[in-house]
Amino acid sequence: MPGTLVFLEHHGDELLKPSLAVLSKAAQLGGDVSAALLGSGVESLAAGAGAYGAGTVYVADDPRLEAPLPQPRVDVLAQLVGEHGFDTVLFASSILGADVAAALAARLDAGLNWQLTDLVEQDGQLVGKQPALSDSVVCDVGWTSTPRLALFRAGAFDPAETGGEARVERIEPQLEDFSTQAEMVEQAHEEQSGPSIEDADVIVAGGRGLGSPEAFSLAEELAKALGGAVAATRAVVDAGWYPYAAQVGQTGKTVSPKLYVALGISGAIQHKVGMQSSQVIVAINKDPNAPIFEYSDLGVVGDLHQIVPKLTELVRERRS
Ligand SMILES: Cc1cc2nc3c(=O)[nH]c(=O)nc-3n(C[C@H](O)[C@H](O)[C@H](O)COP(=O)(O)OP(=O)(O)OC[C@H]3O[C@@H](n4cnc5c(N)ncnc54)[C@H](O)[C@@H]3O)c2cc1C
Repeated sequence: MPGTLVFLEHHGDELLKPSLAVLSKAAQLGGDVSAALLGSGVESLAAGAGAYGAGTVYVADDPRLEAPLPQPRVDVLAQLVGEHGFDTVLFASSILGADVAAALAARLDAGLNWQLTDLVEQDGQLVGKQPALSDSVVCDVGWTSTPRLALFRAGAFDPAETGGEARVERIEPQLEDFSTQAEMVEQAHEEQSGPSIEDADVIVAGGRGLGSPEAFSLAEELAKALGGAVAATRAVVDAGWYPYAAQVGQTGKTVSPKLYVALGISGAIQHKVGMQSSQVIVAINKDPNAPIFEYSDLGVVGDLHQIVPKLTELVRERRS
């Protein structure tokens, strides 16, 4: 019977939250849901996917899958689709996920809908929700054939535990010669302290209003006091003030923390689409007409250089 296959990603000994979120979304839609876990030394992680709705986890545990390269993964997914007839294959958005999804679409001559924020069943058909025109509209997108491939935006869903158990099935990957030609020469992992912006309950985001890269320490100190993470606008990331990994917005990450504090951010539509689903938005901006105030729950008009150090001090006092 056709079913859904979800591509699981892991880092070290952890299954990544975005792919678990896609897995639990698939489980909510019902039907036969399986997951594929590919890597080296990953078998012990497989059972954990059961709690998020995987009935079966297919594990390809092979040293040739250690490096996060797409083509060997495409081979294994194509093998699984061929053997089990999955009619839907779902991916969470990531650099690897996007590479694998696009290459699998080419390999299987299948349709891929990307940047989806939701997937629903309408009149017995799967329909994807895809924001367009700078996220000012949401389009319904579908597929004209199977397998249907879909790539979801980061932060589109939260993982939901269902408490189930998965059957773990080990598979022998059959890799094509051409898929093993690329070699990972170097991998760098950026160390960070505190939560990532995808996981943080509190985000303090800095924009051009900070005035200089050094002034990001104001955002960092406030984030530290609140136990949160630091994000940035594209303007400051492009200027080299802060790493790209911290960019929120249309061409950055989508986040939905409990609290989003925007420091010196004008609130352009391309930034808004990445953070508008935050539960509470607080903006500090010296321009009372800044667009960000139109969608903030609390707005403070003033110079952030005066306000933020005092706010950080107050938070520290309260927390101690
Ligand atoms: C195709 C496309 C994709 C894009 N993708 C993204 C994206 O993913 N993410 C993103 O963020 N942007 C994105 N942008 C850019 C976006 O349009 C804006 O240019 C950008 O978000 C502006 O960043 P900013 O708010 O830091 O800077 P600005 O717009 O320059 O705003 C700075 C703000 O700081 C305030 N300010 C200045 N000094 C102080 C002070 N001392 N105290 C308090 N407030 C002060 C000002 O009043 C102003 O409102 C994209 C643009 C395009 C065209």
